[in-house]
Amino acid sequence: MSRLAGKIALVTGAASGIGRESALLFAANGARVVCVDLSGDDNAATAADIKRTGGSAIALTADVSLASDMEGVVAATVEEFGALHVAFNNAGIMHSEDSDAIETQEGIWDLTMGVNAKGVFLGCKYEIPAMLESGGGSIINTASFVAVMGAATPQIAYTASKGAVLALTRELAVVHARQNIRINSLCPGPLRTELLMNFLDTDEKKKRRLVHVPMGRFGEAAEMAQAALWLASDEASYVTGTDLMVDGGLSAAYVTPEG
Ligand code: NAD
Repeated sequence: MSRLAGKIALVTGAASGIGRESALLFAANGARVVCVDLSGDDNAATAADIKRTGGSAIALTADVSLASDMEGVVAATVEEFGALHVAFNNAGIMHSEDSDAIETQEGIWDLTMGVNAKGVFLGCKYEIPAMLESGGGSIINTASFVAVMGAATPQIAYTASKGAVLALTRELAVVHARQNIRINSLCPGPLRTELLMNFLDTDEKKKRRLVHVPMGRFGEAAEMAQAALWLASDEASYVTGTDLMVDGGLSAAYVTPEG
Protein backbone atom coordinates (compact mmCIF):
# COMPACT_ATOMS: atom_id res chain seq x y z
CA MET A 1 0.00 0.00 0.00
CA SER A 2 1.49 3.32 -0.96
CA ARG A 3 -1.30 5.85 -1.11
CA LEU A 4 0.92 8.42 0.66
CA ALA A 5 4.23 7.45 -0.93
CA GLY A 6 6.75 10.28 -0.73
CA LYS A 7 4.58 12.39 1.58
CA ILE A 8 5.57 13.92 4.88
CA ALA A 9 2.64 13.80 7.33
CA LEU A 10 2.18 15.50 10.69
CA VAL A 11 -0.41 14.01 13.08
CA THR A 12 -1.43 15.66 16.37
CA GLY A 13 -2.89 13.58 19.17
CA ALA A 14 -0.75 10.70 17.88
CA ALA A 15 -0.32 9.10 21.31
CA SER A 16 -3.82 7.66 21.41
CA GLY A 17 -7.08 6.83 19.64
CA ILE A 18 -7.68 8.30 16.19
CA GLY A 19 -4.28 10.00 16.03
CA ARG A 20 -2.34 6.84 16.85
CA GLU A 21 -4.31 4.72 14.36
CA SER A 22 -3.87 7.38 11.68
CA ALA A 23 -0.13 7.77 12.25
CA LEU A 24 0.27 3.98 11.90
CA LEU A 25 -1.95 3.84 8.80
CA PHE A 26 -0.29 6.84 7.12
CA ALA A 27 3.13 5.23 7.70
CA ALA A 28 1.89 1.87 6.38
CA ASN A 29 0.88 3.78 3.25
CA GLY A 30 4.34 5.17 2.69
CA ALA A 31 4.29 8.51 4.54
CA ARG A 32 7.09 9.64 6.79
CA VAL A 33 5.24 10.65 9.93
CA VAL A 34 5.72 13.31 12.60
CA CYS A 35 3.85 12.21 15.71
CA VAL A 36 2.83 15.12 17.95
CA ASP A 37 1.24 14.91 21.40
CA LEU A 38 1.36 16.33 24.92
CA SER A 39 1.86 12.84 26.20
CA GLY A 40 5.55 12.10 25.59
CA ASP A 41 5.81 8.39 26.38
CA ASP A 42 2.75 7.14 24.52
CA ASN A 43 3.57 9.36 21.56
CA ALA A 44 7.11 8.01 21.45
CA ALA A 45 5.57 4.52 21.47
CA THR A 46 3.56 5.32 18.32
CA ALA A 47 6.70 6.48 16.51
CA ALA A 48 8.61 3.44 17.78
CA ASP A 49 5.87 1.10 16.50
CA ILE A 50 6.11 2.74 13.06
CA LYS A 51 9.87 2.30 13.00
CA ARG A 52 9.61 -1.30 14.19
CA THR A 53 7.53 -2.13 11.12
CA GLY A 54 10.03 -0.50 8.77
CA GLY A 55 8.46 2.96 8.57
CA SER A 56 9.93 6.37 9.20
CA ALA A 57 8.73 8.56 12.08
CA ILE A 58 9.75 11.04 14.75
CA ALA A 59 7.92 11.94 17.97
CA LEU A 60 7.61 15.52 19.18
CA THR A 61 6.14 16.52 22.54
CA ALA A 62 4.07 19.67 22.13
CA ASP A 63 0.95 21.45 23.31
CA VAL A 64 -1.19 22.30 20.26
CA SER A 65 -2.72 25.26 22.10
CA LEU A 66 0.65 27.06 22.26
CA ALA A 67 1.79 29.03 19.20
CA SER A 68 5.47 28.55 20.05
CA ASP A 69 5.00 24.76 20.26
CA MET A 70 3.18 24.50 16.92
CA GLU A 71 5.66 26.79 15.21
CA GLY A 72 8.45 24.60 16.58
CA VAL A 73 6.74 21.39 15.48
CA VAL A 74 6.39 22.54 11.87
CA ALA A 75 9.97 23.87 11.83
CA ALA A 76 11.25 20.55 13.21
CA THR A 77 9.25 18.65 10.59
CA VAL A 78 10.78 20.60 7.73
CA GLU A 79 14.24 20.33 9.28
CA GLU A 80 13.95 16.56 9.66
CA PHE A 81 12.17 15.61 6.43
CA GLY A 82 12.53 18.69 4.18
CA ALA A 83 8.81 19.31 3.50
CA LEU A 84 5.23 19.03 4.78
CA HIS A 85 2.42 17.57 2.63
CA VAL A 86 -0.21 16.23 5.05
CA ALA A 87 -1.34 17.62 8.41
CA PHE A 88 -3.95 15.93 10.58
CA ASN A 89 -4.91 18.42 13.31
CA ASN A 90 -6.64 15.90 15.50
CA ALA A 91 -5.66 16.47 19.16
CA GLY A 92 -8.67 17.29 21.30
CA ILE A 93 -10.08 17.17 24.80
CA MET A 94 -13.50 16.54 26.32
CA HIS A 95 -13.75 17.80 29.90
CA SER A 96 -15.86 15.93 32.45
CA GLU A 97 -17.14 19.24 33.89
CA ASP A 98 -18.29 20.53 30.49
CA SER A 99 -22.07 20.86 30.68
CA ASP A 100 -24.73 23.43 29.78
CA ALA A 101 -24.25 27.21 29.73
CA ILE A 102 -25.40 27.63 33.32
CA GLU A 103 -23.12 25.00 34.85
CA THR A 104 -19.99 25.24 32.70
CA GLN A 105 -17.22 27.29 34.28
CA GLU A 106 -15.35 29.89 32.26
CA GLY A 107 -12.08 28.01 32.79
CA ILE A 108 -13.51 24.84 31.18
CA TRP A 109 -14.69 26.88 28.20
CA ASP A 110 -11.26 28.53 27.77
CA LEU A 111 -9.37 25.27 28.16
CA THR A 112 -11.57 23.42 25.67
CA MET A 113 -11.59 26.20 23.10
CA GLY A 114 -7.83 26.58 23.57
CA VAL A 115 -7.04 22.98 22.62
CA ASN A 116 -9.88 22.06 20.25
CA ALA A 117 -10.36 25.31 18.31
CA LYS A 118 -7.23 27.42 18.81
CA GLY A 119 -5.08 24.29 18.51
CA VAL A 120 -6.47 23.67 15.02
CA PHE A 121 -6.06 27.34 14.09
CA LEU A 122 -2.42 27.32 15.22
CA GLY A 123 -1.79 24.10 13.33
CA CYS A 124 -3.10 25.65 10.12
CA LYS A 125 -1.24 28.89 10.81
CA TYR A 126 2.15 27.20 10.66
CA GLU A 127 1.38 24.22 8.41
CA ILE A 128 0.02 26.26 5.48
CA PRO A 129 3.24 28.26 4.85
CA ALA A 130 5.25 25.00 5.01
CA MET A 131 2.84 23.36 2.53
CA LEU A 132 3.10 26.34 0.17
CA GLU A 133 6.88 25.82 0.23
CA SER A 134 6.34 22.10 -0.42
CA GLY A 135 4.14 22.62 -3.50
CA GLY A 136 0.80 21.97 -1.80
CA GLY A 137 -0.82 19.58 0.62
CA SER A 138 -3.85 18.28 2.47
CA ILE A 139 -4.99 19.37 5.93
CA ILE A 140 -7.58 17.38 7.87
CA ASN A 141 -9.07 18.91 11.01
CA THR A 142 -10.95 16.72 13.47
CA ALA A 143 -14.34 18.13 14.39
CA SER A 144 -17.25 15.92 15.52
CA PHE A 145 -20.85 15.09 14.71
CA VAL A 146 -21.78 17.34 17.65
CA ALA A 147 -20.78 20.30 15.48
CA VAL A 148 -23.95 19.73 13.44
CA MET A 149 -26.38 18.21 15.96
CA GLY A 150 -27.58 19.31 19.38
CA ALA A 151 -27.79 16.96 22.37
CA ALA A 152 -29.72 17.10 25.62
CA THR A 153 -26.58 15.75 27.31
CA PRO A 154 -24.69 19.01 26.75
CA GLN A 155 -20.98 19.70 26.51
CA ILE A 156 -21.33 23.31 25.47
CA ALA A 157 -17.63 24.19 25.27
CA TYR A 158 -16.77 21.00 23.35
CA THR A 159 -19.68 21.46 20.95
CA ALA A 160 -18.81 25.11 20.29
CA SER A 161 -15.15 24.24 19.76
CA LYS A 162 -16.06 21.66 17.12
CA GLY A 163 -18.39 24.13 15.39
CA ALA A 164 -15.44 26.50 15.22
CA VAL A 165 -13.36 23.79 13.56
CA LEU A 166 -15.95 23.37 10.79
CA ALA A 167 -16.19 27.11 10.19
CA LEU A 168 -12.46 27.84 10.11
CA THR A 169 -11.80 24.79 7.95
CA ARG A 170 -14.38 25.86 5.37
CA GLU A 171 -13.00 29.39 5.16
CA LEU A 172 -9.36 28.35 4.92
CA ALA A 173 -10.27 25.81 2.24
CA VAL A 174 -11.70 28.61 0.12
CA VAL A 175 -8.75 30.93 0.77
CA HIS A 176 -6.16 28.34 -0.28
CA ALA A 177 -8.14 26.45 -2.96
CA ARG A 178 -6.00 27.79 -5.82
CA GLN A 179 -2.74 27.08 -4.06
CA ASN A 180 -2.99 23.30 -4.23
CA ILE A 181 -3.87 23.02 -0.54
CA ARG A 182 -7.02 21.10 0.37
CA ILE A 183 -8.50 21.56 3.84
CA ASN A 184 -11.32 19.36 5.15
CA SER A 185 -13.01 18.48 8.43
CA LEU A 186 -13.47 14.94 9.62
CA CYS A 187 -16.56 14.50 11.81
CA PRO A 188 -16.36 11.27 13.79
CA GLY A 189 -19.47 9.82 15.39
CA PRO A 190 -19.29 8.36 18.89
CA LEU A 191 -16.25 6.09 19.10
CA ARG A 192 -15.11 3.29 21.36
CA THR A 193 -12.05 5.29 22.42
CA GLU A 194 -10.76 6.24 25.87
CA LEU A 195 -11.96 9.83 25.41
CA LEU A 196 -15.65 8.94 25.04
CA MET A 197 -15.68 5.80 27.20
CA ASN A 198 -14.34 7.88 30.11
CA PHE A 199 -17.13 10.41 29.55
CA LEU A 200 -19.87 7.75 29.17
CA ASP A 201 -18.71 5.97 32.30
CA THR A 202 -21.74 3.72 32.94
CA ASP A 203 -23.43 1.04 30.79
CA GLU A 204 -26.64 3.06 30.98
CA LYS A 205 -24.95 6.15 29.49
CA LYS A 206 -23.36 4.08 26.73
CA LYS A 207 -26.69 2.42 25.89
CA ARG A 208 -28.46 5.77 25.80
CA ARG A 209 -25.94 7.12 23.30
CA LEU A 210 -26.22 4.09 21.01
CA VAL A 211 -30.00 4.45 20.64
CA HIS A 212 -29.25 7.35 18.30
CA VAL A 213 -26.81 5.49 16.05
CA PRO A 214 -28.52 3.66 13.16
CA MET A 215 -25.68 1.13 13.00
CA GLY A 216 -26.20 0.41 16.71
CA ARG A 217 -22.52 0.38 17.66
CA PHE A 218 -19.70 2.75 18.51
CA GLY A 219 -17.20 3.48 15.76
CA GLU A 220 -13.56 2.49 15.94
CA ALA A 221 -10.57 4.81 15.78
CA ALA A 222 -9.25 2.69 12.90
CA GLU A 223 -12.37 3.55 10.87
CA MET A 224 -11.61 7.28 11.33
CA ALA A 225 -8.03 6.67 10.23
CA GLN A 226 -9.28 5.18 6.95
CA ALA A 227 -11.34 8.32 6.27
CA ALA A 228 -8.40 10.58 7.18
CA LEU A 229 -6.15 8.56 4.86
CA TRP A 230 -8.53 9.12 1.96
CA LEU A 231 -8.72 12.88 2.62
CA ALA A 232 -4.93 12.99 2.93
CA SER A 233 -4.33 11.09 -0.31
CA ASP A 234 -4.46 12.34 -3.90
CA GLU A 235 -7.59 10.18 -4.35
CA ALA A 236 -9.47 13.08 -2.73
CA SER A 237 -7.96 15.59 -5.16
CA TYR A 238 -11.27 17.41 -5.83
CA VAL A 239 -12.39 17.46 -2.18
CA THR A 240 -11.94 20.62 -0.16
CA GLY A 241 -13.95 22.56 2.41
CA THR A 242 -16.16 19.61 3.22
CA ASP A 243 -17.36 18.14 6.53
CA LEU A 244 -16.91 14.39 6.13
CA MET A 245 -19.34 12.64 8.48
CA VAL A 246 -18.09 9.22 9.57
CA ASP A 247 -20.76 8.49 12.13
CA GLY A 248 -22.60 5.21 11.53
CA GLY A 249 -25.50 7.18 10.04
CA LEU A 250 -26.09 9.25 13.19
CA SER A 251 -26.43 12.63 11.51
CA ALA A 252 -28.78 11.16 8.88
CA ALA A 253 -31.23 9.74 11.41
CA TYR A 254 -34.52 11.08 12.64
CA VAL A 255 -35.80 7.76 13.97
CA THR A 256 -33.37 4.85 14.29
CA PRO A 257 -34.23 1.11 14.09
CA GLU A 258 -34.45 1.16 17.92
CA GLY A 259 -36.71 4.18 17.88
P1 NAD B 1 -7.91 10.36 22.67
O1 NAD B 1 -8.10 10.96 24.02
O2 NAD B 1 -7.71 8.90 22.54
O3 NAD B 1 -6.69 11.10 21.93
C1 NAD B 1 -6.51 12.48 21.98
C2 NAD B 1 -5.01 12.78 22.06
O4 NAD B 1 -4.82 14.19 22.04
C3 NAD B 1 -4.35 12.25 23.33
O5 NAD B 1 -3.22 11.48 23.01
C4 NAD B 1 -3.96 13.52 24.09
O6 NAD B 1 -2.77 13.38 24.86
C5 NAD B 1 -3.78 14.51 22.94
N1 NAD B 1 -3.89 15.89 23.41
C6 NAD B 1 -4.84 16.41 24.22
N2 NAD B 1 -4.60 17.71 24.42
C7 NAD B 1 -3.48 18.03 23.72
C8 NAD B 1 -2.72 19.21 23.55
N3 NAD B 1 -3.06 20.35 24.15
N4 NAD B 1 -1.63 19.16 22.75
C9 NAD B 1 -1.24 18.00 22.15
N5 NAD B 1 -1.92 16.84 22.30
C10 NAD B 1 -3.01 16.86 23.08
O7 NAD B 1 -9.16 10.82 21.82
P2 NAD B 1 -9.71 10.44 20.35
O8 NAD B 1 -11.02 9.82 20.53
O9 NAD B 1 -8.69 9.76 19.55
O10 NAD B 1 -9.97 11.93 19.81
C11 NAD B 1 -9.25 12.50 18.77
C12 NAD B 1 -10.10 13.63 18.21
O11 NAD B 1 -11.35 13.11 17.77
C13 NAD B 1 -10.42 14.73 19.20
O12 NAD B 1 -10.33 15.99 18.57
C14 NAD B 1 -11.85 14.43 19.59
O13 NAD B 1 -12.53 15.57 20.02
C15 NAD B 1 -12.40 13.90 18.29
N6 NAD B 1 -13.61 13.10 18.39
C16 NAD B 1 -13.64 11.99 19.14
C17 NAD B 1 -14.82 11.27 19.22
C18 NAD B 1 -14.93 10.03 20.09
O14 NAD B 1 -16.02 9.51 20.25
N7 NAD B 1 -13.83 9.53 20.64
C19 NAD B 1 -15.96 11.68 18.53
C20 NAD B 1 -15.90 12.83 17.76
C21 NAD B 1 -14.70 13.53 17.69
